[in-house]
Amino acid sequence: MTKLRLAIVGAGPAGIYAADILLKSERNFDVSIDLFDHLPAPYGLVRYGVAPDHPRIKGIITALRDVLDRGDIRIFGNVRFGEDLTLDDLKKHYNAVIFATGAVRDADLGIPGIELEGSYGAAEFVSWYDGHPDYPREWPLEARSVAVIGNGNVALDVARVLAKHADDLLPTEIPANVYDGLADSPVTDVHVFGRRGPTSVKFTPLELRELGELRDVDMIVHDEDFDYDDAARAAVAGNKQVFVIDKVLQQWRQREVGQASRRLHLHFFAKPLEVLDDGNGRVGAIRYERTAPDGEGGVVGTGEIREIPIEALYRAVGYFGSSLPGIPFDKRFGVIPNHEGQVLVRDKETGESRQLYGVYATGWIKRGPVGLIGHTKSDAMETVRHLINDLGNWWRPESPSEESVVELLESRGIRYTDLDGWHRLDEHELALGTDAQRTRIKVVPRDEMVDISRAELSA
Ligand SMILES: Cc1cc2nc3c(=O)[nH]c(=O)nc-3n(C[C@H](O)[C@H](O)[C@H](O)COP(=O)(O)OP(=O)(O)OC[C@H]3O[C@@H](n4cnc5c(N)ncnc54)[C@H](O)[C@@H]3O)c2cc1C
Repeated sequence: MTKLRLAIVGAGPAGIYAADILLKSERNFDVSIDLFDHLPAPYGLVRYGVAPDHPRIKGIITALRDVLDRGDIRIFGNVRFGEDLTLDDLKKHYNAVIFATGAVRDADLGIPGIELEGSYGAAEFVSWYDGHPDYPREWPLEARSVAVIGNGNVALDVARVLAKHADDLLPTEIPANVYDGLADSPVTDVHVFGRRGPTSVKFTPLELRELGELRDVDMIVHDEDFDYDDAARAAVAGNKQVFVIDKVLQQWRQREVGQASRRLHLHFFAKPLEVLDDGNGRVGAIRYERTAPDGEGGVVGTGEIREIPIEALYRAVGYFGSSLPGIPFDKRFGVIPNHEGQVLVRDKETGESRQLYGVYATGWIKRGPVGLIGHTKSDAMETVRHLINDLGNWWRPESPSEESVVELLESRGIRYTDLDGWHRLDEHELALGTDAQRTRIKVVPRDEMVDISRAELSA
């Protein structure tokens, strides 16, 4: 029987779902899957993006772990495609590859002053508070007044973690240095800015509502933002999600404020124009233009310019995918160009796109960094369907045996981690958590993660 030796690069939800879907799909060939990730632990942004105080979402890891624990997918952590493994290596050992490498960088925000000291990308801050091994362990939390630019769930995560009292995060899996950093934060005011109105936000209702439940944090919204036009009223009447978001915000308008030691301000119809220098090369204020509905669901500038003094700024205007050596990349959208997951390459002579046989994409690197974890499942279904149908065009590897890849990694001295290693690290982190009466305490340094996974510490 034909056998598909498949490499999947990226052990986030998209990669794991793709493996699971392929193994469960109807097909007339055998399958053997190797899943590679450059991090020593699997689960991608579920481990290193989803906020630590969202245990329900972090719990998706349980479902992903069940897939890996079945034992029919091999996993190689601490292996970076492009450095430790190349496309030529994959062609030598596999019939095809699916890239599920996600998006980990911040999208740019091209306004003057964005490069000032004290201006950060949300992705860096998220990586810090989620204990990502490749980010600094210290985070400068010295600002009393902070701006967060963006109107999606990541902006809410950043604003919430900044505004929340550190003790309320203690039961979660935040690393000890993150707790210490947040506990010392002098923050009193967090200002969230969105260009559009309350009925056009990308927040989901659950995440928005949660802000109103933070202990000792007042939610501040402004009456001037609720003068809805016909398009906004139609959105409230016709879209359940917008209806709930509007209801939550309207309740906050009625609330008494002024008691809490911290405030979280939502500024709608506020288009950031410039970050102003405090005179010492640091963030000193944000200048923004008041916008107004344009009658067609968008906004236009009104020419009214305002300023709010701030001491730090976080841009949460989206994530962006990174290019991979030897693989086509669309610089404009930060994705691998593809048709329903079949990777496309542009012919230099004709300028036409054609399928790059054997190469597939799924998840955020396939369709861009939008959507929830659940969406990566439908993504994977589409990609896997094409992979199966393309059987006649798979690569014909010269060394398809399962041992040959292990030999290759070992010959290169790569300290890869495997499923047993992940279990060891997982148990180690859970035990650290139990000792401290917390969910889990993450091991952060990469070397330590690898040592524990490879059991070299106990040796
Ligand atoms: C801050 C934040 C909070 C979020 N919160 C939620 C939430 O509450 N609920 C929800 O449903 N969704 C949430 N999401 C969205 C969710 O995380 C994504 O939908 C999902 O993780 C995308 O899956 P993916 O597998 O495509 O990418 P990722 O999860 O990013 O996984 C990609 C994997 O590829 C690996 N990789 C990258 N490059 C290489 C390489 N060169 N070699 C080897 N491996 C590589 C990475 O290490 C990573 O493990 C959040 C996202 C962010 C950014």
